[in-house]
Amino acid sequence: MLAFKQERFHSRIVLPTGEVSDRVIEVRTHPITGRTCRITYSRGAEREPGAGALPAPPPFAADRGTCPFCRAQLGTQTPRLDPALAPEGRLVRGDSTLFPNLYPYGRYSAVSLFGDGHFVEIGTDRPEAYADSFLNCRDYLLRVLARDPGAVWMAITQNHLPSAGGSLLHPHLQVQADRLPANFQRCLREASARHHRRSGTRLFADYLRAEQQAGARCLGATGAWQWLAAFAPEGFFEIWGILPGVTSLSRTTEEHWRALAQGVLNTQKFYRSLGRNGYNLGLLLLEDGSDHQELRVVLTVRSNHAPWVRSDFTGFEVMLGDMATFAAPEQTAALARPFWQDRGVEGSGAGGR
Ligand SMILES: [Zn+2]
Repeated sequence: MLAFKQERFHSRIVLPTGEVSDRVIEVRTHPITGRTCRITYSRGAEREPGAGALPAPPPFAADRGTCPFCRAQLGTQTPRLDPALAPEGRLVRGDSTLFPNLYPYGRYSAVSLFGDGHFVEIGTDRPEAYADSFLNCRDYLLRVLARDPGAVWMAITQNHLPSAGGSLLHPHLQVQADRLPANFQRCLREASARHHRRSGTRLFADYLRAEQQAGARCLGATGAWQWLAAFAPEGFFEIWGILPGVTSLSRTTEEHWRALAQGVLNTQKFYRSLGRNGYNLGLLLLEDGSDHQELRVVLTVRSNHAPWVRSDFTGFEVMLGDMATFAAPEQTAALARPFWQDRGVEGSGAGGR
């Protein structure tokens, strides 16, 4: 039912040495969205400034005095939730605090901190901090839904470092809910519903089954979450986590969020091993009672946050709409897999800078 379509071809050029070279290009069609992406293998040899090693912290990394998310300022410089939603103003769980976004993107738009760490290098935070922050997001979204049952389009996202869109260095998640969908939310609902109409089964569980049969892109599991390198990536080193069979926040357990946090940290450690310090994360949720769309998180590396690094979005992505990455997803999986092995990475020397 799901088609994993890929087509390879060559572009013939004559190198400066006079040698004829057939450059390999691959176009893959996303099994869920139908969007195409391409893998421009030869560009892997291109020098990429700033990606040779993990960049040093930015010069303002120690500047805690002006950060509204640092604990000394948090109580006076961040807004409070609508009392109708949360009389206590901010949601606290462990070291995580959740409060509204001062500059909301939609009807319900909040920020969830991991703790008081102002600059936290990728892959070094505690899984418990991520779990508490995710659980804060879940609690907030369930409160929103109880108050406004029409706000069914939900998302938890992360922009780690300004190169990934983060406006503040202090690590945080964004969480939102609205009565209107974003493009990807609308597309995903249509794809999940269409798949269920045709097959009577759920989209991501079937996608996962197909990938488990293929094997080449599977990374491993954290709890009930299954992790993969995306077949048709729309970002560099794109990793997916799928929670098969779970379609609603109300059916998630604390253990689900703790296992998600572990997978996110595994992915961060993998990205760190590639010398990358910024990434985006997205978990889209649909709470309209339709029961087709399972939880799936996506992570992609972004250009490093360092001087003179070029953007990873070129005219090809922005104007033609096809992401052009350099590495086969099967290679991404081979590089990432050790980070899902229980005692793998810290002891093996595969992590770190
Ligand atoms: Zn801070």
